[in-house]
Amino acid sequence: MYRTHTCGELSLSNRGETVSLAGWVQRSRDLGGMTFIDLRDRYGITQLVFNMETNADLCMKARKLGREFVIRAEGIVAERSNKNQKIPTGEIEIITERIEVLNASDTPPFTIEENTDGGDELRMKYRYLDLRRQNVRSNIILRHKMAQEVRKYLDGQGFIEVETPVLIKSTPEGARDFVVPSRLHHGEFYALPQSPQTFKQLLMVAGFDKYFQIVKCFRDEDLRADRQPEFTQVDCEMSFIHQEDILNMFEGLARHLFQEIKGLVFHGPFPRISYDEAMSRYGSDKPDIRFDMCITEITENVKGRNFPPFELAAYAGAVSAPGCAGWSRKQLDELTEFVKRPQIGAAGLVWAKVEADGTVRSSADKYYSADDLANIALMTGSDAGDLILMMAGPRERTLSALGELRLEMGRRLGLRDSSVYAPLWVVDFPLLEWDDETQRFYAKHHPFTAPKPEDIQYMESDPWRVRANAYDLVINGTEIGGGSIRIHDPETQSLMFRTLGFTAEEAQKQFGFLLNAFRYGAPPHGGIAFGFDRWTAIMGGSDTIRDYIAFPKNNQARDLMIDTPATIKQEQLDELGIEISKEEEKK
Ligand code: ASP
Repeated sequence: MYRTHTCGELSLSNRGETVSLAGWVQRSRDLGGMTFIDLRDRYGITQLVFNMETNADLCMKARKLGREFVIRAEGIVAERSNKNQKIPTGEIEIITERIEVLNASDTPPFTIEENTDGGDELRMKYRYLDLRRQNVRSNIILRHKMAQEVRKYLDGQGFIEVETPVLIKSTPEGARDFVVPSRLHHGEFYALPQSPQTFKQLLMVAGFDKYFQIVKCFRDEDLRADRQPEFTQVDCEMSFIHQEDILNMFEGLARHLFQEIKGLVFHGPFPRISYDEAMSRYGSDKPDIRFDMCITEITENVKGRNFPPFELAAYAGAVSAPGCAGWSRKQLDELTEFVKRPQIGAAGLVWAKVEADGTVRSSADKYYSADDLANIALMTGSDAGDLILMMAGPRERTLSALGELRLEMGRRLGLRDSSVYAPLWVVDFPLLEWDDETQRFYAKHHPFTAPKPEDIQYMESDPWRVRANAYDLVINGTEIGGGSIRIHDPETQSLMFRTLGFTAEEAQKQFGFLLNAFRYGAPPHGGIAFGFDRWTAIMGGSDTIRDYIAFPKNNQARDLMIDTPATIKQEQLDELGIEISKEEEKK
Protein backbone atom coordinates (compact mmCIF):
# COMPACT_ATOMS: atom_id res chain seq x y z
CA MET A 1 0.00 0.00 0.00
CA TYR A 2 1.52 3.32 -1.03
CA ARG A 3 -0.42 5.44 1.40
CA THR A 4 -2.89 5.31 4.27
CA HIS A 5 -3.99 8.92 3.83
CA THR A 6 -3.70 11.76 1.37
CA CYS A 7 -1.68 14.91 2.08
CA GLY A 8 -4.84 16.90 2.70
CA GLU A 9 -6.71 15.00 5.34
CA LEU A 10 -4.81 14.52 8.59
CA SER A 11 -5.78 16.59 11.61
CA LEU A 12 -5.39 16.58 15.38
CA SER A 13 -7.93 13.77 15.57
CA ASN A 14 -5.28 11.49 14.01
CA ARG A 15 -2.66 12.37 16.65
CA GLY A 16 -0.50 9.37 17.55
CA GLU A 17 -1.46 7.31 14.49
CA THR A 18 1.18 5.73 12.30
CA VAL A 19 0.50 6.81 8.73
CA SER A 20 2.06 6.66 5.31
CA LEU A 21 1.79 9.39 2.68
CA ALA A 22 2.96 9.73 -0.89
CA GLY A 23 3.49 12.86 -2.93
CA TRP A 24 5.86 15.50 -4.26
CA VAL A 25 8.43 17.49 -2.29
CA GLN A 26 7.15 21.03 -2.52
CA ARG A 27 9.76 22.60 -0.29
CA SER A 28 12.36 21.58 2.21
CA ARG A 29 13.85 23.73 4.99
CA ASP A 30 16.74 23.01 7.29
CA LEU A 31 16.54 24.74 10.63
CA GLY A 32 19.37 23.81 12.96
CA GLY A 33 18.93 20.21 13.89
CA MET A 34 15.57 19.86 12.17
CA THR A 35 14.54 19.42 8.54
CA PHE A 36 11.00 20.15 7.38
CA ILE A 37 9.48 18.99 4.12
CA ASP A 38 6.17 20.10 2.67
CA LEU A 39 4.76 17.04 0.97
CA ARG A 40 2.13 17.81 -1.66
CA ASP A 41 -0.48 15.81 -3.53
CA ARG A 42 -3.77 16.72 -5.18
CA TYR A 43 -5.49 17.01 -1.82
CA GLY A 44 -3.15 19.30 0.06
CA ILE A 45 0.16 19.69 1.84
CA THR A 46 1.40 17.91 4.96
CA GLN A 47 4.55 18.79 6.86
CA LEU A 48 7.12 16.06 7.45
CA VAL A 49 9.73 16.55 10.21
CA PHE A 50 13.13 14.97 10.54
CA ASN A 51 15.28 15.33 13.65
CA MET A 52 19.08 15.24 13.40
CA GLU A 53 19.40 14.24 17.05
CA THR A 54 17.03 11.31 17.05
CA ASN A 55 17.61 9.99 13.52
CA ALA A 56 20.65 11.51 11.82
CA ASP A 57 20.71 9.05 8.92
CA LEU A 58 17.13 9.70 7.94
CA CYS A 59 17.61 13.45 8.38
CA MET A 60 20.62 13.38 6.05
CA LYS A 61 18.61 11.42 3.53
CA ALA A 62 15.79 13.94 3.72
CA ARG A 63 18.19 16.82 3.15
CA LYS A 64 19.13 15.33 -0.19
CA LEU A 65 15.60 15.38 -1.55
CA GLY A 66 15.17 17.99 -4.26
CA ARG A 67 12.06 19.89 -5.28
CA GLU A 68 9.43 17.72 -6.99
CA PHE A 69 11.00 14.42 -5.95
CA VAL A 70 8.26 11.83 -5.55
CA ILE A 71 8.50 10.14 -2.17
CA ARG A 72 6.66 7.93 0.22
CA ALA A 73 6.96 8.68 3.94
CA GLU A 74 5.93 6.81 7.05
CA GLY A 75 5.69 8.30 10.51
CA ILE A 76 3.55 9.33 13.45
CA VAL A 77 1.05 12.18 13.45
CA ALA A 78 1.98 14.78 16.09
CA GLU A 79 0.63 18.16 17.14
CA ARG A 80 2.63 21.06 15.72
CA SER A 81 4.00 23.67 18.07
CA ASN A 82 4.04 26.26 15.29
CA LYS A 83 0.54 25.95 13.82
CA ASN A 84 -0.39 27.15 10.33
CA GLN A 85 -4.06 28.16 10.34
CA LYS A 86 -4.03 28.77 6.60
CA ILE A 87 -4.07 25.10 5.58
CA PRO A 88 -6.38 22.30 6.80
CA THR A 89 -3.46 20.12 7.92
CA GLY A 90 -1.72 23.06 9.61
CA GLU A 91 -2.17 21.78 13.16
CA ILE A 92 -0.21 18.58 12.68
CA GLU A 93 3.05 17.27 11.31
CA ILE A 94 4.51 13.81 10.70
CA ILE A 95 7.45 12.69 12.83
CA THR A 96 8.99 10.78 9.96
CA GLU A 97 10.44 7.31 10.53
CA ARG A 98 11.04 6.09 7.00
CA ILE A 99 11.23 7.58 3.54
CA GLU A 100 11.44 5.99 0.16
CA VAL A 101 12.29 7.88 -3.01
CA LEU A 102 9.81 6.76 -5.65
CA ASN A 103 11.27 9.00 -8.31
CA ALA A 104 13.79 11.82 -8.55
CA SER A 105 13.07 15.06 -10.41
CA ASP A 106 15.08 17.56 -12.38
CA THR A 107 14.85 21.05 -10.95
CA PRO A 108 11.53 22.35 -12.29
CA PRO A 109 11.73 25.36 -14.63
CA PHE A 110 9.49 27.42 -12.32
CA THR A 111 8.24 27.25 -8.77
CA ILE A 112 5.19 25.08 -8.24
CA GLU A 113 3.44 27.60 -6.02
CA GLU A 114 0.47 29.87 -6.24
CA ASN A 115 2.60 32.89 -7.09
CA THR A 116 4.95 31.15 -9.45
CA ASP A 117 7.95 32.80 -11.06
CA GLY A 118 7.10 31.09 -14.36
CA GLY A 119 5.96 33.26 -17.27
CA ASP A 120 3.07 32.26 -19.54
CA GLU A 121 5.15 30.55 -22.20
CA LEU A 122 7.17 28.50 -19.77
CA ARG A 123 4.08 27.40 -17.91
CA MET A 124 2.38 26.34 -21.14
CA LYS A 125 5.44 24.44 -22.30
CA TYR A 126 5.48 22.54 -19.01
CA ARG A 127 1.74 22.52 -18.52
CA TYR A 128 1.87 19.24 -16.55
CA LEU A 129 3.94 21.08 -13.94
CA ASP A 130 1.70 24.12 -14.07
CA LEU A 131 -1.24 21.81 -13.39
CA ARG A 132 0.46 20.72 -10.16
CA ARG A 133 -0.17 24.21 -8.80
CA GLN A 134 -3.11 24.23 -6.47
CA ASN A 135 -4.81 27.27 -8.03
CA VAL A 136 -4.57 25.88 -11.56
CA ARG A 137 -5.73 22.44 -10.51
CA SER A 138 -8.69 23.86 -8.63
CA ASN A 139 -9.87 25.53 -11.85
CA ILE A 140 -9.88 22.15 -13.58
CA ILE A 141 -11.73 20.64 -10.64
CA LEU A 142 -14.31 23.42 -10.87
CA ARG A 143 -14.77 22.50 -14.51
CA HIS A 144 -15.29 18.87 -13.55
CA LYS A 145 -17.96 19.89 -11.01
CA MET A 146 -19.68 22.07 -13.58
CA ALA A 147 -19.78 19.17 -16.05
CA GLN A 148 -21.21 16.81 -13.41
CA GLU A 149 -23.89 19.32 -12.43
CA VAL A 150 -24.80 19.99 -16.06
CA ARG A 151 -25.28 16.25 -16.55
CA LYS A 152 -27.21 15.88 -13.31
CA TYR A 153 -29.65 18.65 -14.18
CA LEU A 154 -30.20 17.70 -17.81
CA ASP A 155 -30.48 13.99 -17.04
CA GLY A 156 -33.01 14.89 -14.35
CA GLN A 157 -35.01 16.75 -16.99
CA GLY A 158 -35.05 13.77 -19.34
CA PHE A 159 -32.29 14.82 -21.74
CA ILE A 160 -30.32 12.07 -23.47
CA GLU A 161 -26.59 12.51 -24.05
CA VAL A 162 -25.73 11.48 -27.58
CA GLU A 163 -22.31 11.67 -29.22
CA THR A 164 -22.11 13.02 -32.74
CA PRO A 165 -19.26 12.56 -35.24
CA VAL A 166 -16.14 14.67 -35.36
CA LEU A 167 -15.27 13.97 -38.99
CA ILE A 168 -18.13 15.66 -40.76
CA LYS A 169 -19.03 17.96 -43.59
CA SER A 170 -18.83 21.72 -43.17
CA THR A 171 -21.34 23.25 -40.70
CA PRO A 172 -22.52 26.78 -41.27
CA GLU A 173 -21.74 28.61 -38.03
CA GLY A 174 -20.04 31.52 -39.65
CA ALA A 175 -16.40 30.64 -39.02
CA ARG A 176 -13.84 28.84 -41.14
CA ASP A 177 -13.73 25.04 -40.86
CA PHE A 178 -10.73 23.00 -39.85
CA VAL A 179 -10.42 20.33 -42.50
CA VAL A 180 -8.97 16.85 -42.49
CA PRO A 181 -7.76 15.35 -45.77
CA SER A 182 -8.98 11.87 -46.62
CA ARG A 183 -6.30 9.27 -47.42
CA LEU A 184 -8.84 6.84 -48.85
CA HIS A 185 -10.45 9.44 -51.08
CA HIS A 186 -7.78 11.72 -52.45
CA GLY A 187 -8.87 15.29 -52.94
CA GLU A 188 -11.73 14.90 -50.48
CA PHE A 189 -11.87 16.37 -47.03
CA TYR A 190 -13.75 16.03 -43.78
CA ALA A 191 -14.48 19.13 -41.76
CA LEU A 192 -14.34 19.25 -37.97
CA PRO A 193 -17.67 20.42 -36.54
CA GLN A 194 -18.03 24.09 -35.63
CA SER A 195 -20.90 22.69 -33.58
CA PRO A 196 -23.12 19.60 -33.85
CA GLN A 197 -25.95 21.85 -35.08
CA THR A 198 -27.22 19.75 -37.97
CA PHE A 199 -26.84 16.47 -36.06
CA LYS A 200 -28.86 17.64 -33.11
CA GLN A 201 -31.61 18.72 -35.47
CA LEU A 202 -31.47 15.28 -37.10
CA LEU A 203 -31.81 13.73 -33.63
CA MET A 204 -35.02 15.70 -33.26
CA VAL A 205 -36.23 14.32 -36.59
CA ALA A 206 -35.25 10.91 -35.17
CA GLY A 207 -37.61 11.53 -32.26
CA PHE A 208 -35.09 11.85 -29.41
CA ASP A 209 -37.10 14.78 -28.07
CA LYS A 210 -34.45 16.10 -25.64
CA TYR A 211 -30.75 15.87 -26.51
CA PHE A 212 -27.60 17.21 -24.97
CA GLN A 213 -23.88 16.73 -25.31
CA ILE A 214 -20.79 18.23 -23.72
CA VAL A 215 -18.83 18.44 -26.91
CA LYS A 216 -15.68 19.77 -28.51
CA CYS A 217 -16.24 22.25 -31.33
CA PHE A 218 -13.65 23.62 -33.74
CA ARG A 219 -13.55 27.03 -35.42
CA ASP A 220 -10.66 28.28 -37.45
CA GLU A 221 -11.13 31.93 -36.56
CA ASP A 222 -8.67 34.78 -36.68
CA LEU A 223 -6.59 35.08 -33.57
CA ARG A 224 -8.13 37.09 -30.80
CA ALA A 225 -7.28 37.34 -27.16
CA ASP A 226 -8.79 34.53 -25.15
CA ARG A 227 -10.15 32.50 -28.07
CA GLN A 228 -9.44 28.81 -28.45
CA PRO A 229 -9.58 27.07 -31.84
CA GLU A 230 -11.10 24.07 -30.07
CA PHE A 231 -13.56 24.73 -27.31
CA THR A 232 -16.35 22.94 -25.50
CA GLN A 233 -20.07 23.50 -25.74
CA VAL A 234 -22.97 22.22 -23.72
CA ASP A 235 -25.11 21.60 -26.75
CA CYS A 236 -28.85 21.05 -26.34
CA GLU A 237 -31.97 20.59 -28.45
CA MET A 238 -35.65 19.98 -27.66
CA SER A 239 -38.77 19.12 -29.66
CA PHE A 240 -42.38 20.33 -29.39
CA ILE A 241 -41.38 23.52 -27.62
CA HIS A 242 -41.76 27.25 -27.97
CA GLN A 243 -39.08 29.79 -27.16
CA GLU A 244 -40.60 30.21 -23.72
CA ASP A 245 -40.07 26.53 -22.89
CA ILE A 246 -36.42 26.72 -23.84
CA LEU A 247 -35.77 29.87 -21.83
CA ASN A 248 -37.41 28.30 -18.79
CA MET A 249 -35.58 24.99 -19.11
CA PHE A 250 -32.16 26.59 -19.43
CA GLU A 251 -32.76 29.31 -16.91
CA GLY A 252 -33.31 26.26 -14.70
CA LEU A 253 -29.88 24.94 -15.69
CA ALA A 254 -28.27 28.30 -14.90
CA ARG A 255 -30.01 28.44 -11.52
CA HIS A 256 -28.96 24.89 -10.75
CA LEU A 257 -25.31 25.70 -11.51
CA PHE A 258 -25.35 28.95 -9.55
CA GLN A 259 -26.86 27.13 -6.60
CA GLU A 260 -24.62 24.04 -6.67
CA ILE A 261 -21.37 25.73 -7.65
CA LYS A 262 -21.64 29.14 -6.00
CA GLY A 263 -24.38 28.63 -3.42
CA LEU A 264 -26.27 31.50 -5.06
CA VAL A 265 -30.04 31.68 -5.29
CA PHE A 266 -31.65 34.19 -7.67
CA HIS A 267 -35.06 35.46 -6.74
CA GLY A 268 -37.48 36.17 -9.56
CA PRO A 269 -36.99 35.41 -13.23
CA PHE A 270 -33.81 36.51 -15.04
CA PRO A 271 -34.39 39.86 -16.75
CA ARG A 272 -35.14 39.69 -20.47
CA ILE A 273 -34.45 42.47 -22.89
CA SER A 274 -34.75 42.72 -26.61
CA TYR A 275 -31.73 43.06 -28.85
CA ASP A 276 -32.87 46.56 -29.85
CA GLU A 277 -33.17 47.66 -26.26
CA ALA A 278 -29.81 46.13 -25.35
CA MET A 279 -28.17 48.03 -28.20
CA SER A 280 -29.82 51.36 -27.46
CA ARG A 281 -29.38 51.26 -23.67
CA TYR A 282 -26.06 49.46 -23.32
CA GLY A 283 -24.48 49.75 -26.78
CA SER A 284 -23.99 45.98 -26.73
CA ASP A 285 -25.94 42.79 -27.37
CA LYS A 286 -24.34 41.33 -24.25
CA PRO A 287 -24.88 43.99 -21.62
CA ASP A 288 -23.17 43.94 -18.27
CA ILE A 289 -26.07 44.79 -15.98
CA ARG A 290 -24.12 44.67 -12.73
CA PHE A 291 -24.32 48.46 -12.95
CA ASP A 292 -26.65 51.02 -14.57
CA MET A 293 -25.06 54.01 -16.31
CA CYS A 294 -27.30 53.41 -19.33
CA ILE A 295 -26.96 55.31 -22.59
CA THR A 296 -29.37 58.18 -23.30
CA GLU A 297 -29.97 59.38 -26.82
CA ILE A 298 -29.49 63.17 -27.10
CA THR A 299 -29.45 63.53 -30.89
CA GLU A 300 -32.19 66.17 -30.97
CA ASN A 301 -30.89 68.06 -27.91
CA VAL A 302 -27.49 68.83 -29.37
CA LYS A 303 -28.58 69.98 -32.82
CA GLY A 304 -28.97 73.57 -33.98
CA ARG A 305 -26.02 75.04 -32.06
CA ASN A 306 -23.45 74.74 -34.85
CA PHE A 307 -21.18 72.45 -32.90
CA PRO A 308 -19.67 70.69 -35.92
CA PRO A 309 -19.15 67.13 -34.60
CA PHE A 310 -22.73 66.96 -33.32
CA GLU A 311 -24.49 68.98 -35.98
CA LEU A 312 -24.13 66.49 -38.79
CA ALA A 313 -24.16 63.28 -36.78
CA ALA A 314 -26.93 60.76 -37.33
CA TYR A 315 -26.88 59.96 -33.65
CA ALA A 316 -25.63 61.48 -30.39
CA GLY A 317 -25.72 59.76 -27.05
CA ALA A 318 -24.47 60.16 -23.50
CA VAL A 319 -23.66 58.21 -20.40
CA SER A 320 -23.70 59.84 -16.99
CA ALA A 321 -21.10 58.68 -14.48
CA PRO A 322 -22.26 59.27 -10.92
CA GLY A 323 -19.89 61.21 -8.67
CA CYS A 324 -17.24 61.74 -11.33
CA ALA A 325 -17.55 65.52 -11.84
CA GLY A 326 -14.27 65.94 -9.99
CA TRP A 327 -12.31 63.97 -12.57
CA SER A 328 -9.14 65.75 -13.62
CA ARG A 329 -8.20 66.96 -17.04
CA LYS A 330 -5.74 64.08 -17.24
CA GLN A 331 -8.40 61.48 -16.47
CA LEU A 332 -10.72 62.99 -19.08
CA ASP A 333 -7.91 63.00 -21.63
CA GLU A 334 -7.33 59.33 -20.91
CA LEU A 335 -10.98 58.60 -21.58
CA THR A 336 -10.79 60.52 -24.85
CA GLU A 337 -7.76 58.48 -25.84
CA PHE A 338 -9.66 55.34 -24.87
CA VAL A 339 -12.61 56.04 -27.17
CA LYS A 340 -10.34 57.09 -30.04
CA ARG A 341 -8.55 53.72 -30.11
CA PRO A 342 -9.01 52.07 -33.48
CA GLN A 343 -10.95 49.14 -31.95
CA ILE A 344 -13.47 51.65 -30.59
CA GLY A 345 -13.21 54.18 -33.34
CA ALA A 346 -14.95 57.25 -31.92
CA ALA A 347 -13.95 60.67 -33.27
CA GLY A 348 -13.83 62.25 -29.84
CA LEU A 349 -15.51 62.78 -26.51
CA VAL A 350 -17.37 65.76 -25.11
CA TRP A 351 -17.80 66.05 -21.36
CA ALA A 352 -20.05 68.05 -19.07
CA LYS A 353 -19.76 68.29 -15.29
CA VAL A 354 -22.69 69.00 -13.00
CA GLU A 355 -21.31 71.25 -10.26
CA ALA A 356 -22.45 71.18 -6.63
CA ASP A 357 -24.76 74.16 -7.24
CA GLY A 358 -26.35 72.45 -10.25
CA THR A 359 -24.65 74.51 -12.96
CA VAL A 360 -23.19 72.49 -15.81
CA ARG A 361 -19.75 73.12 -17.26
CA SER A 362 -18.74 71.49 -20.49
CA SER A 363 -15.86 71.09 -22.94
CA ALA A 364 -18.31 72.43 -25.54
CA ASP A 365 -19.36 75.51 -23.46
CA LYS A 366 -18.76 77.74 -26.47
CA TYR A 367 -21.64 76.16 -28.34
CA TYR A 368 -24.10 75.24 -25.65
CA SER A 369 -25.88 77.65 -23.29
CA ALA A 370 -26.42 76.95 -19.60
CA ASP A 371 -29.99 76.00 -20.45
CA ASP A 372 -28.90 73.56 -23.17
CA LEU A 373 -26.54 71.86 -20.75
CA ALA A 374 -29.08 71.80 -17.92
CA ASN A 375 -31.45 70.14 -20.34
CA ILE A 376 -28.89 67.45 -21.22
CA ALA A 377 -28.29 66.89 -17.51
CA LEU A 378 -32.03 66.44 -17.04
CA MET A 379 -32.31 64.07 -20.00
CA THR A 380 -29.50 61.88 -18.73
CA GLY A 381 -30.79 61.90 -15.16
CA SER A 382 -27.60 63.54 -13.91
CA ASP A 383 -27.32 65.13 -10.47
CA ALA A 384 -24.81 67.40 -8.82
CA GLY A 385 -21.40 65.73 -8.87
CA ASP A 386 -22.05 63.67 -12.00
CA LEU A 387 -19.98 63.59 -15.16
CA ILE A 388 -21.77 63.39 -18.52
CA LEU A 389 -19.82 61.86 -21.41
CA MET A 390 -21.16 62.47 -24.93
CA MET A 391 -20.34 61.14 -28.37
CA ALA A 392 -21.82 61.49 -31.84
CA GLY A 393 -21.52 59.80 -35.21
CA PRO A 394 -23.16 56.98 -37.16
CA ARG A 395 -25.77 55.34 -34.91
CA GLU A 396 -24.44 51.80 -34.51
CA ARG A 397 -20.80 52.71 -34.23
CA THR A 398 -21.50 55.47 -31.71
CA LEU A 399 -23.71 53.24 -29.60
CA SER A 400 -21.10 50.57 -29.50
CA ALA A 401 -18.39 53.14 -28.59
CA LEU A 402 -20.63 54.46 -25.80
CA GLY A 403 -21.10 50.86 -24.70
CA GLU A 404 -17.34 50.38 -24.47
CA LEU A 405 -16.97 53.67 -22.63
CA ARG A 406 -19.69 52.58 -20.20
CA LEU A 407 -17.80 49.33 -19.50
CA GLU A 408 -14.56 51.22 -19.04
CA MET A 409 -16.21 53.62 -16.57
CA GLY A 410 -17.72 50.62 -14.78
CA ARG A 411 -14.28 49.08 -14.55
CA ARG A 412 -12.64 52.28 -13.33
CA LEU A 413 -15.34 52.76 -10.72
CA GLY A 414 -15.01 49.17 -9.49
CA LEU A 415 -18.58 48.32 -10.52
CA ARG A 416 -17.65 45.13 -12.35
CA ASP A 417 -17.12 42.95 -9.31
CA SER A 418 -16.37 39.35 -10.36
CA SER A 419 -18.07 37.97 -7.25
CA VAL A 420 -21.40 39.53 -8.33
CA TYR A 421 -23.41 37.66 -10.99
CA ALA A 422 -25.99 39.37 -13.16
CA PRO A 423 -27.57 36.98 -15.69
CA LEU A 424 -30.11 38.04 -18.30
CA TRP A 425 -31.66 36.88 -21.56
CA VAL A 426 -31.30 38.94 -24.70
CA VAL A 427 -34.13 38.03 -27.11
CA ASP A 428 -35.55 39.07 -30.50
CA PHE A 429 -32.28 39.22 -32.39
CA PRO A 430 -32.40 40.29 -36.01
CA LEU A 431 -32.56 37.26 -38.31
CA LEU A 432 -30.09 38.64 -40.83
CA GLU A 433 -26.98 40.72 -40.97
CA TRP A 434 -25.91 42.74 -44.00
CA ASP A 435 -22.30 42.52 -45.06
CA ASP A 436 -21.06 45.56 -46.92
CA GLU A 437 -18.00 43.87 -48.30
CA THR A 438 -19.74 40.95 -49.99
CA GLN A 439 -22.99 42.89 -50.47
CA ARG A 440 -25.19 40.11 -49.14
CA PHE A 441 -27.08 39.00 -46.09
CA TYR A 442 -25.72 36.50 -43.62
CA ALA A 443 -27.72 34.66 -40.98
CA LYS A 444 -27.02 36.41 -37.71
CA HIS A 445 -27.23 33.10 -35.84
CA HIS A 446 -27.26 30.35 -38.48
CA PRO A 447 -29.42 29.56 -41.52
CA PHE A 448 -31.72 27.19 -39.60
CA THR A 449 -32.95 29.86 -37.22
CA ALA A 450 -36.66 30.60 -37.55
CA PRO A 451 -37.91 34.11 -38.27
CA LYS A 452 -40.67 35.34 -35.97
CA PRO A 453 -43.89 34.21 -37.69
CA GLU A 454 -45.26 37.76 -37.69
CA ASP A 455 -42.11 39.03 -39.47
CA ILE A 456 -41.95 36.44 -42.28
CA GLN A 457 -44.02 38.79 -44.45
CA TYR A 458 -41.03 41.18 -44.62
CA MET A 459 -38.47 38.57 -45.67
CA GLU A 460 -38.44 39.78 -49.24
CA SER A 461 -39.57 43.40 -48.96
CA ASP A 462 -37.62 44.53 -45.88
CA PRO A 463 -35.26 41.80 -44.64
CA TRP A 464 -33.58 44.16 -42.15
CA ARG A 465 -36.66 44.31 -39.98
CA VAL A 466 -37.18 40.54 -39.67
CA ARG A 467 -36.54 39.39 -36.12
CA ALA A 468 -35.60 35.84 -35.17
CA ASN A 469 -36.79 33.56 -32.44
CA ALA A 470 -33.22 33.63 -31.18
CA TYR A 471 -31.89 34.26 -27.70
CA ASP A 472 -28.64 34.58 -25.78
CA LEU A 473 -27.91 34.01 -22.13
CA VAL A 474 -25.59 36.76 -20.95
CA ILE A 475 -23.76 36.88 -17.64
CA ASN A 476 -21.73 39.90 -16.57
CA GLY A 477 -21.29 41.25 -20.07
CA THR A 478 -20.32 37.90 -21.56
CA GLU A 479 -22.40 35.80 -23.92
CA ILE A 480 -22.57 32.43 -22.21
CA GLY A 481 -24.91 30.72 -24.64
CA GLY A 482 -27.16 31.24 -27.59
CA GLY A 483 -29.73 29.38 -29.58
CA SER A 484 -32.92 29.60 -31.52
CA ILE A 485 -36.15 28.02 -32.54
CA ARG A 486 -35.44 26.27 -35.83
CA ILE A 487 -37.16 26.37 -39.15
CA HIS A 488 -38.90 23.03 -39.62
CA ASP A 489 -40.92 23.54 -42.77
CA PRO A 490 -39.27 23.30 -46.19
CA GLU A 491 -40.94 26.44 -47.53
CA THR A 492 -39.51 28.78 -44.90
CA GLN A 493 -36.17 27.04 -45.20
CA SER A 494 -36.09 27.64 -48.97
CA LEU A 495 -37.07 31.26 -48.42
CA MET A 496 -34.24 31.62 -45.94
CA PHE A 497 -31.71 30.08 -48.29
CA ARG A 498 -32.92 32.36 -51.09
CA THR A 499 -32.53 35.40 -48.87
CA LEU A 500 -29.00 34.29 -48.06
CA GLY A 501 -28.23 34.07 -51.75
CA PHE A 502 -28.09 30.27 -52.08
CA THR A 503 -29.52 28.72 -55.22
CA ALA A 504 -31.73 25.68 -54.70
CA GLU A 505 -28.87 23.49 -56.04
CA GLU A 506 -26.30 24.99 -53.69
CA ALA A 507 -28.59 24.51 -50.72
CA GLN A 508 -29.23 20.91 -51.76
CA LYS A 509 -25.52 20.25 -52.21
CA GLN A 510 -24.52 21.65 -48.84
CA PHE A 511 -27.48 20.75 -46.65
CA GLY A 512 -29.34 18.18 -48.72
CA PHE A 513 -29.12 15.62 -45.92
CA LEU A 514 -30.97 17.94 -43.56
CA LEU A 515 -33.50 19.15 -46.11
CA ASN A 516 -34.25 15.57 -47.09
CA ALA A 517 -34.67 14.57 -43.47
CA PHE A 518 -37.13 17.44 -43.02
CA ARG A 519 -39.34 15.80 -45.65
CA TYR A 520 -39.99 12.89 -43.30
CA GLY A 521 -41.86 14.63 -40.51
CA ALA A 522 -39.62 17.09 -38.65
CA PRO A 523 -41.12 18.11 -35.31
CA PRO A 524 -41.08 21.76 -34.28
CA HIS A 525 -37.80 22.11 -32.40
CA GLY A 526 -35.23 24.47 -31.03
CA GLY A 527 -32.16 24.53 -28.86
CA ILE A 528 -29.24 26.33 -27.39
CA ALA A 529 -25.52 25.84 -26.88
CA PHE A 530 -23.43 27.19 -24.02
CA GLY A 531 -19.74 28.00 -24.12
CA PHE A 532 -18.62 25.66 -21.40
CA ASP A 533 -15.06 26.99 -21.03
CA ARG A 534 -16.30 30.54 -20.65
CA TRP A 535 -19.14 29.68 -18.31
CA THR A 536 -16.70 27.81 -16.08
CA ALA A 537 -14.27 30.74 -16.13
CA ILE A 538 -17.04 33.14 -15.11
CA MET A 539 -18.08 30.85 -12.28
CA GLY A 540 -14.43 30.84 -11.23
CA GLY A 541 -14.47 34.65 -11.19
CA SER A 542 -12.11 34.99 -14.14
CA ASP A 543 -12.35 35.90 -17.77
CA THR A 544 -9.42 33.86 -19.00
CA ILE A 545 -10.78 30.62 -20.44
CA ARG A 546 -7.30 29.19 -20.88
CA ASP A 547 -7.00 28.81 -17.12
CA TYR A 548 -9.95 26.43 -17.17
CA ILE A 549 -8.71 24.16 -19.95
CA ALA A 550 -6.23 21.45 -18.97
CA PHE A 551 -4.19 21.66 -22.17
CA PRO A 552 -5.01 24.91 -23.96
CA LYS A 553 -3.56 26.51 -27.06
CA ASN A 554 -1.81 29.85 -26.71
CA ASN A 555 -3.05 33.03 -28.38
CA GLN A 556 -1.18 32.06 -31.53
CA ALA A 557 -3.29 28.85 -31.64
CA ARG A 558 -0.21 26.79 -30.78
CA ASP A 559 0.24 24.08 -28.20
CA LEU A 560 3.73 24.83 -26.91
CA MET A 561 3.93 21.61 -24.93
CA ILE A 562 3.41 19.14 -27.74
CA ASP A 563 4.68 21.69 -30.25
CA THR A 564 1.86 21.78 -32.72
CA PRO A 565 0.84 22.68 -35.42
CA ALA A 566 3.83 20.95 -36.95
CA THR A 567 4.96 19.68 -40.31
CA ILE A 568 4.30 16.05 -41.19
CA LYS A 569 6.47 13.51 -42.97
CA GLN A 570 6.69 13.48 -46.74
CA GLU A 571 5.26 9.90 -46.72
CA GLN A 572 2.19 11.14 -44.94
CA LEU A 573 1.73 13.92 -47.45
CA ASP A 574 2.20 11.49 -50.31
CA GLU A 575 -0.37 9.11 -48.87
CA LEU A 576 -2.82 11.97 -48.64
CA GLY A 577 -1.96 13.18 -52.11
CA ILE A 578 -1.05 16.62 -50.77
CA GLU A 579 1.71 18.82 -52.05
CA ILE A 580 2.92 21.82 -50.07
CA SER A 581 3.46 24.83 -52.31
CA LYS A 582 7.02 26.09 -52.54
CA GLU A 583 6.16 29.42 -50.92
CA GLU A 584 4.78 27.72 -47.85
CA GLU A 585 7.88 25.58 -47.55
CA LYS A 586 10.12 28.63 -47.54
CA LYS A 587 8.30 30.14 -44.54
N1 ASP B 1 -25.12 25.71 -32.82
C1 ASP B 1 -25.29 27.02 -32.27
C2 ASP B 1 -23.94 27.62 -31.92
O1 ASP B 1 -22.96 26.92 -31.78
C3 ASP B 1 -26.13 27.04 -31.05
C4 ASP B 1 -27.56 26.67 -31.30
O2 ASP B 1 -28.22 27.30 -32.12
O3 ASP B 1 -28.04 25.77 -30.61
O4 ASP B 1 -23.84 28.82 -31.70
